[in-house]
Amino acid sequence: MSDDRAERIAEFIEPLRVAPGSTVRLERDFDPREKAGLKKRKAADLLRTGVELLAEYQSRLAAQDTYGVLLCLQALDAGGKDGTIRHVMSGVNPQGVRVSSFKVPSSEELDHDYLWRYAGRLPARGEIAIFNRSHYEEVLVVRVHTENLVRQKLPDSARGSGVWKRRYREINDWERYLVDNGFKVVKIFLNLSKEEQRARFLKRIDLPEKNWKFSAADVRERRHWAEYQRAFSKMLSATSTEWAPWYVVPADRKWFARLCTAAILAHTLMDIDPQYPQMPEAARKELLVAKRGLEREAPTGMPADPYAARHPSGRDARTSGRRAGKKKRG
Ligand code: AMP
Ligand code: MG
Repeated sequence: MSDDRAERIAEFIEPLRVAPGSTVRLERDFDPREKAGLKKRKAADLLRTGVELLAEYQSRLAAQDTYGVLLCLQALDAGGKDGTIRHVMSGVNPQGVRVSSFKVPSSEELDHDYLWRYAGRLPARGEIAIFNRSHYEEVLVVRVHTENLVRQKLPDSARGSGVWKRRYREINDWERYLVDNGFKVVKIFLNLSKEEQRARFLKRIDLPEKNWKFSAADVRERRHWAEYQRAFSKMLSATSTEWAPWYVVPADRKWFARLCTAAILAHTLMDIDPQYPQMPEAARKELLVAKRGLEREAPTGMPADPYAARHPSGRDARTSGRRAGKKKRG
């Protein structure tokens, strides 16, 4: 990593990272209202810079075609997952990104092992995959509402009292396998306060164009707030690993959550530091032969190489043998 942007980003996100092996208690350890002394306007500038950075790195990731990135986003209802994805990924080439949302599993999905549906949505090399909800639902909603576990048709031996511990281990092992094979795994929990959730629900009810985002089930889930906080705390404690860390992002201020998410993703990409492939010398010579052929085809009055003519000091211009006069255009 050559530039000091990387260092500044690493410093910015460090307080959000859950240290592997630590015991998290959400309400005690993380403040949903935190904003690191930033103001909204300044954050908007920083986010714009971050989005540009992401675009640059994503392009290199795709060109190198060696590593992939999996970003898992978890949050309670109204935590801001959709808006965060929309803003953070606004500058990247859609061909290099795939977003998957996970809902209540279908009967086909329930007929398989619990990681099956997530495995089918992993990134290819060169891609960034975003999980809007993820395999972590298997130790969150399934833990809070254990009737979900019953629906999974597990053999008796797989649903005993040790099931959650075992799932943590299986998830850690699965992620390690992915990381060992070139797929970076990064996990973000958008940490919303109960009061901010209440406010956002009310806004969804008050504004007709937001009604579709709200369902009565959301209010029922809210009654399990404390159980979810416990399930999140246990999950964060057990599955933040050296190879696939969790970040707890303060989510009461959407602009801050978006900035943090962009920074975490940028950090992940800068750590990979993907490079554009270098042409081998022989292939480069072949290109120059093709170039000369194309230059000979120039109609009279046209520059031999229009690009080189327009960029006389550019890299490509230097390889140009002949250069016809630049023709002025309107
Ligand atoms: P939404 O993200 O608002 O569209 O809601 C998706 C719903 O699917 C949420 O209520 C989740 O709790 C639920 N869900 C996601 N994954 C699972 C799962 N593995 N088992 C049961 N419910 C799930
Ligand atoms: Mg919902």
